Amino acid sequence: MQEAKFYQKLENNRTSCQLCNHYCQIASNNNGICRARKNIDGRLFSLNYGKIIAEHIDPIEKKPLYHFLPGTLTYSIACAGCNFHCLNCQNSDISQLTPKLINTIDALPEISPEEIIERVLAAGCPSIAYTYTEPTIFAEFALSCMKLARHHGLANVWVSNGYMSPACLEAIAPCLDAINIDLKSFNKETYQKICGAKLEPILDNLLWLKNKNIHLEVTTLIMPGINDSEAELSAIAKFISNKLGAATPWHVSAFYPTYKLSNLPATARETILQAVEIGKKAGLEHVHGGNI
Ligand code: SF4
Repeated sequence: MQEAKFYQKLENNRTSCQLCNHYCQIASNNNGICRARKNIDGRLFSLNYGKIIAEHIDPIEKKPLYHFLPGTLTYSIACAGCNFHCLNCQNSDISQLTPKLINTIDALPEISPEEIIERVLAAGCPSIAYTYTEPTIFAEFALSCMKLARHHGLANVWVSNGYMSPACLEAIAPCLDAINIDLKSFNKETYQKICGAKLEPILDNLLWLKNKNIHLEVTTLIMPGINDSEAELSAIAKFISNKLGAATPWHVSAFYPTYKLSNLPATARETILQAVEIGKKAGLEHVHGGNI
């Protein structure tokens, strides 16, 4: 457990977390929406610092990043927790901090950023991916690793829901080489209902990253009856093409029944192929169908 970097102290021992766009105001001895940050007697702490819950070596295409260091392996790490509570989460066992999972991470050893870098170098991977859960929620630890990674000539990639605050973006940008952001819908109500979040900050962050010239790829998981209309997919494709650039890769992935949406059918192969055509029609040069 380490004191958080991104927060302000308020009156009556309250704290205002500045790490993501929820900007939780947290009373003493309470947690934020992600449950990974706790106010202890007026100071905000990251409960998951260095507590690695998942660690694998993956092809970078699995992130998915198809146009950054293609054909290489990336050393992928996660600490538990997420600021979204998506009904379709594929990693809910490590992203949703239940009391049981909080006990599990309490018992994990705290691994140092130096140890992570040693493991990456020993594995011969040219990059580190901060992935599986939401890297924003372990930003302090990711940032420590990212700075060391740069020192050793390693690239840093994030796989994110894009809900980080401007302060978080400013902090990570100097060491961030590539990022894949989920643009889950173009409908405000859908974002609220499925993820408990707002759409606008994600669009703002996508534009910010584009303007910073950080390698950016976008993913949309297509869910039957939720975000699979031609109008919505076309709106997403046009936003990417017009605002982020026609060369921005768009990954359109098939949903499989999972977690709290296990009652939905899987996305039809035909729907993914139609989405690819919608992307191309919007002028996108790289549209990749996935999970089919
Ligand atoms: S990271 Fe986001 S969800 Fe977590 S406490 Fe901070 S503002 Fe709230």
